Amino acid sequence: MPRYDFRCRACGATFEVNRPMVQASEPAACPQGHLDTVKLLSTVAVTGRGGASGGAPAPAGGGCCGGACGC
Ligand SMILES: [Zn+2]
Repeated sequence: MPRYDFRCRACGATFEVNRPMVQASEPAACPQGHLDTVKLLSTVAVTGRGGASGGAPAPAGGGCCGGACGC
């Protein structure tokens, strides 16, 4: 079952949710119970590690400007 990373915009917590892929876009409540959460780009989508040396790692859980939060 794929794992999805979420960030709560209410308290800033990041948490992981294991859910079927068909529920990937459904909202997830943070551990504090907030519903204002955004799904982060997950590392499960990174499958091609063929030949690129280095490169930018996926911004999973890092800064706030990975493109998923619209800040
Ligand atoms: Zn929260």
